[in-house]
Amino acid sequence: MEADICIVGAGAAGISIALEFLNTGYKVILLEGGGFEYDDRVQELYSGKTTGQPYYPIKSSELHYFGGTTGHWGGMCSLFDPIAFQKRDWVDKSGWPITQDTLIPYYKRAHINLDIDTYQFDLEYWQRRDPTLLSLPFDDDVIWTKIWKFSPPTRFGTKYKDTIVNAKNIHLYTYANMVDITANETVTKVNSVTVKNFAGKTHQVNARYFVISCAGIQNARVLLAANKQAPKGLGNDNDLVGKYFMEHIEIKSAELWLKEKSELKLYMFASPRVQGELAIMPKKQAEHEILNGIVSFTPLEIAKKMPSYIQLWSKADPRENEKQVNDALGKIYKNRLARFLESFKSEKSKNAHQAFQMTMRLEQAPNPLSRVTLSTEKDELGVPRAALNWSFTSLEKKSIRKIYEIIGEQAGASGIGRVRFMEELWDEKDQALPTTTSGGWHHMGTTRMNDDPKNGVVDANCKIHGIQNIFIGGSSCFPTGAGVNPTFTIVALSIRLADHLKEILKASGSSLKSTKSV
Ligand SMILES: Cc1cc2nc3c(=O)[nH]c(=O)nc-3n(C[C@H](O)[C@H](O)[C@H](O)COP(=O)(O)OP(=O)(O)OC[C@H]3O[C@@H](n4cnc5c(N)ncnc54)[C@H](O)[C@@H]3O)c2cc1C
Repeated sequence: MEADICIVGAGAAGISIALEFLNTGYKVILLEGGGFEYDDRVQELYSGKTTGQPYYPIKSSELHYFGGTTGHWGGMCSLFDPIAFQKRDWVDKSGWPITQDTLIPYYKRAHINLDIDTYQFDLEYWQRRDPTLLSLPFDDDVIWTKIWKFSPPTRFGTKYKDTIVNAKNIHLYTYANMVDITANETVTKVNSVTVKNFAGKTHQVNARYFVISCAGIQNARVLLAANKQAPKGLGNDNDLVGKYFMEHIEIKSAELWLKEKSELKLYMFASPRVQGELAIMPKKQAEHEILNGIVSFTPLEIAKKMPSYIQLWSKADPRENEKQVNDALGKIYKNRLARFLESFKSEKSKNAHQAFQMTMRLEQAPNPLSRVTLSTEKDELGVPRAALNWSFTSLEKKSIRKIYEIIGEQAGASGIGRVRFMEELWDEKDQALPTTTSGGWHHMGTTRMNDDPKNGVVDANCKIHGIQNIFIGGSSCFPTGAGVNPTFTIVALSIRLADHLKEILKASGSSLKSTKSV
């Protein structure tokens, strides 16, 4: 099989790249390990061991079929702020080789793929539309309200299936798991990838350019496993593949007690699907040398009934976990989250609360001990399984405490109420995070982006350093994670990568003729 571009993995990243090549005259092969529906035999290929801070079973933390993990993502979208891209002296290994400005045109295109109704992340815009969306009366130099928008959430496997299947120049192969990557002798160019199915049949796919977009843990795994020519794994000359694995730490860590009951409407799901969360101004982050952390609110009486995600998402089968989460939400919201959300729009007094749970989503500092490696055990197709060690630096707990201190000071100074820390934060010397600490199922950093091959696996165009024609799609390229869910940025970065590929294809001459038999 031969193509101009071979994309491996049809999730948010892979499908976004393929869509950019629709009707371009370039022949694209899209390899997807799963079928169009969930299949536990395929999902089982993801199984692997975890150590360190308790984490979700690897098998159920990403989805292995067409559409990828968008099959059950939540749709929360916001921009990575300018500070997230900057080198911060107090965060080792921080700094992207691109800025927020580089990504803005691509965020604008990505919001269409993700069906976000309006590209507007400006608080004043929403307050002009609805003056009842009041922000908390805090000092603007210290705290600001960050705006979230929501994808419905778009299920890539459902929404884009027909477009991909019917495209003349995109050749989709399902149940085509990539099991190896073969380079030339000097390992400066990839010649082919090998796919294998459960019948043991293998195929070689040759292409001018390859994109690996198998999700944050699997991207590292497939590169490390491609070790017959590069013994440490492809792109791993500097021992960076799999290293610096990052998640978003999600932790219910403090309460806001108000003097007078309030709806905090802006900070709940306000219509039309916009939500505010508290963030710390960049100058204050620098002054206190802390990470990006963003704080959301839930009425305390409701939050207390909801176990943490790490408790609910404990099974290897992702369908069981989804059911556990829905059952837990159902118990609280009488089976319909939507009905609960609706209640916020009616009966004013019922929606006002005295106490709110604050939940923080915190970026993780890059940490060499937090990493994906290969296990000695192999999956059914003969590929070594992934092993994950999730661990933190001292900066995470310090940042959580400091962010709540700042919010507490503001709550006191403005006279609206008080902040109460959870007990696990009381001891300043204790750097451990509680076992109820959850992640957002966001897998970042394992093929980090940096201009210098000694500090990054890929360059600013997501190309693996030292190899001419292989690129990585997805959040594994993020050198740091901001305090924001990753998929909007993954799609933006993927569209940018597609533009870059088009440019180099154009410069390098004619395309292969694409004849497709469906
Ligand atoms: C419960 C849950 C809720 C979430 N909520 C949010 C949210 O609200 N907001 C947000 O931004 N993010 C959210 N996420 C994360 C989001 O789903 C991911 O960031 C996103 O799907 C990642 O896109 P991707 O293309 O990199 O990986 P995926 O979407 O996982 O796609 C990877 C694809 O590669 C295929 N593949 C893997 N290995 C191989 C192989 N060897 N050969 C061939 N194909 C292969 C897989 O089958 C899959 O189709 C959530 C995740 C979960 C689990």
